Amino acid sequence: MKKAKNLLLILGIFLTLDVLKFQASAADRLPDLAMMKLRDLNIENTPDGRRLLRFTTIIINIGVGKFELWGQRANTSEPLMSVSQRIFDDAGGYRDRPTNAVMYYAGDGHTHWHVKNLENYALIRLDNGAKVGTGAKRGFCFFDNYIYNLTYAGAPQSPFYKGCGKSPGALGPLRTGLSVGWGDSYGWRLPDQFIDITGLTSGQYRLRAIADYNRWFTESIETNNSTTVDIRLQGNSITILGYGQGY
Ligand SMILES: [Zn+2]
Repeated sequence: MKKAKNLLLILGIFLTLDVLKFQASAADRLPDLAMMKLRDLNIENTPDGRRLLRFTTIIINIGVGKFELWGQRANTSEPLMSVSQRIFDDAGGYRDRPTNAVMYYAGDGHTHWHVKNLENYALIRLDNGAKVGTGAKRGFCFFDNYIYNLTYAGAPQSPFYKGCGKSPGALGPLRTGLSVGWGDSYGWRLPDQFIDITGLTSGQYRLRAIADYNRWFTESIETNNSTTVDIRLQGNSITILGYGQGY
């Protein structure tokens, strides 16, 4: 009986080693999402009396692998596509991993599909850490439209991902992605690219943008996803006090 147990144990060890060997044969080439330092901060006073803090955000992929998502839905009566992440490996293969992210059509005056909440913006009081505003932007159609650093290994020298699906009746699979070394920029003039600061008192605040706030996606480093800038707001003037993490 004891012998049989030992045999099973040894067999178990060999099986475990075999699994490890199999996994080691193809290593994941994971993306790494990060944010560039926030830029173009300015205040818009709208005709209907709102004050909007506008700024440009750029999300970048500084990992060793492509960041690629696929959206899909069963029929057009479902407004949302479910989203899976395609993770590539160094043996030329890939696997698709389901995520909690969703894609939806239009919503910001743009006739294309968006990944919901890819980025998250917040304005925080510096003295007590209270969140006083969040970004209006919800949908992100991301692709290779900003050159960050094409000397990264695996960085394509021209854009590989180009835009998002435009057909409202699409069922998928619909691909969107960000190549290594490339960024996706949201200019301060874009619809919803702001935090509403109507009625906010003058003072010192921290503006923060985070890539994949909800941690839906697999990436190599999770600690470099945010960028911050500390500012003083006084009427319509913005003074930069200092930058935190960011590229
Ligand atoms: Zn859009």
